[in-house]
Amino acid sequence: MTNANDKTTATGGAFLIEACGAHRIFTPEDFSDEQRLFHKTALDFIHHEVLPRSREIEAKKEGLIPNLLRKAGEVGLLSVEIPENYGGLGLDVATSMLVAEAIAKQGSFSVSIGAHVGIGSLPIVYFGNEVQKAKYLPKINTGEILTAYALTEPGSGSDALGAKTKAVLNPEGTHYILNGAKQWITNAGFAGLFTVFAKIDGEKFTAFLVTRDTKGLSIGAEEHKMGIRGSSTCQLTFEDALVPKENILGEIGKGHKIAFNILNHGRMKLGISATGGAKHVLGISVAYAKSRKAFGQPIAEFGLIQEKIGEIASRIFVAEAMSFRTCGLIDAVHEQLDKSDPAYQQKRFLALEEFTIEASILKVCGSELLNLAVDEGVQIHGGYGYSEEYAIERAYRDSRINRIFEGTNEINRMLITGTLLKRALTGKIAWLDFFGKLQHELETNTLPLLKDGALAREQQVVEYAKRATVLALQTAAMRFMQNIEKEQEILAQIANLISDIYGMDSAISRVTQMMEAKHEFASWAELATQLYLSQGVRRIYEGARQIMIEASDTKDRANQLALIDRLTLPYEISWVKLRRALAETIIEKEAYPL
Ligand SMILES: Cc1cc2nc3c(=O)[nH]c(=O)nc-3n(C[C@H](O)[C@H](O)[C@H](O)COP(=O)(O)OP(=O)(O)OC[C@H]3O[C@@H](n4cnc5c(N)ncnc54)[C@H](O)[C@@H]3O)c2cc1C
Repeated sequence: MTNANDKTTATGGAFLIEACGAHRIFTPEDFSDEQRLFHKTALDFIHHEVLPRSREIEAKKEGLIPNLLRKAGEVGLLSVEIPENYGGLGLDVATSMLVAEAIAKQGSFSVSIGAHVGIGSLPIVYFGNEVQKAKYLPKINTGEILTAYALTEPGSGSDALGAKTKAVLNPEGTHYILNGAKQWITNAGFAGLFTVFAKIDGEKFTAFLVTRDTKGLSIGAEEHKMGIRGSSTCQLTFEDALVPKENILGEIGKGHKIAFNILNHGRMKLGISATGGAKHVLGISVAYAKSRKAFGQPIAEFGLIQEKIGEIASRIFVAEAMSFRTCGLIDAVHEQLDKSDPAYQQKRFLALEEFTIEASILKVCGSELLNLAVDEGVQIHGGYGYSEEYAIERAYRDSRINRIFEGTNEINRMLITGTLLKRALTGKIAWLDFFGKLQHELETNTLPLLKDGALAREQQVVEYAKRATVLALQTAAMRFMQNIEKEQEILAQIANLISDIYGMDSAISRVTQMMEAKHEFASWAELATQLYLSQGVRRIYEGARQIMIEASDTKDRANQLALIDRLTLPYEISWVKLRRALAETIIEKEAYPL
């Protein structure tokens, strides 16, 4: 394996065409003492300050969330990504991911702090001018000013550029006059500062910093939501609201750069936060399963309960591997930047843009993992899972939003495949070389052979699966050409294959590194990887075949399907044994073991 800082590892989407395990990846096993300490600070905070107040939070106790946010500021939890020269800690993305993972145990609080440290304040960190940064960041850092991000409107959500909020320069040339409305704005009930997107003269999509006391801005009543009920969500209305022209954030007409790339960052964080939530839910479900007896024995001893526990644990292992691999790649790019470069923040930001595909994968996989974990968690709790008395009931409701905000999972699936296609077409990844090599391998019967060493079979299986995915995508791209964006079902199916590849590839790298380091849970991790792999390979086989059916003429179909058959190696393993073995460790520890 090469070093994680190897330049070739810093190319978004390249995992699909690079050899499995070609690069060392950053994993949770690589955390530094400082990162672990920060994680512990966040865990202590959530255990001592937040979870005991969960009921009050859910009852929307006046002022509680802002107070908790300011308290979080006192222990540095709001400062992670704020640059040091503005009073922050300027730490790496891995640390901010660790904080998000720990905080996820309380959904409402997690969404509130996530909005403040993420979409609410990062637009200023990355796009603010010196005056704006100096004015706001030190106060954002302590929680004196709390922040929100206002993009969505009553008539436009996924279609964010369809926003109607309009900004017109006043005759004096001093202020923009904003008119319009923003919908579903997290933290709106108490935020002092909003990043608001509006179209100057109805055309140029632009970001503005809008303070709460702005004349003409009114904040609506709190929405009554299915979940994350303790978080604040309100509508904003602008009626001739006067915003000083120096409050334009970034460049006029370039608001989409801010809007979409900040969401990129949010998606990555949402992925790990949902994974942290799944860990928490797994823990409470296992504790319940150990204490609840049926037919004279704890339900944790039943195969069908262990099946759920083992399955969720395997997916958590994979989600963590993908998440920390991604932030490790970004941190590696950041480390190479010169902090004294005036364009430093902008370059940091570009590193995030590079990993758009990975960020969307983390968002989709994390949110769907958490949905599975809460659903099975309720099932493990039986009737009690349906009662407000049990934490799993709240977790079930809280989980659902994750598939909707930060770009719905449908939109993110389109982004995964769409961005990959763009990168392939523009030569950002060596797609044509890889496809040429694949054709040669098929013609000359020289597909990758089984190597020596641990997990050699798994690596070979994934090498083949990458080729099946590339072939399916190339076939669909050739078949539909520029109309492929209308073939959403196919794009989404391909996104699933790409995501499975990233998961399998990351899990193999992680477990290989654990084996090399003789980690005490390396064998457990191997089982988790094998379980995911044996399912992932099947999904890829079925998915790639279906794409071939959709994208080939009837006369070519048999040949195309035969190619997918050649690119699929059997990987058959007992799911029952794997899930039981995984569950056994978790039941014993009453927690996810890593
Ligand atoms: C609790 C909560 C908090 C939120 N916080 C914020 C916030 O702080 N700031 C903010 O700006 N926004 C926020 N949002 C808004 C959120 O980001 C949007 O709800 C989300 O982007 C979806 O937009 P929409 O609700 O308009 O749904 P729509 O865009 O109308 O989508 C409806 C359905 O159609 C699908 N769809 C839409 N377009 C396509 C397409 N092209 N192809 C295929 N399917 C499509 C969607 O996937 C979805 O299933 C929040 C929402 C909620 C509920």
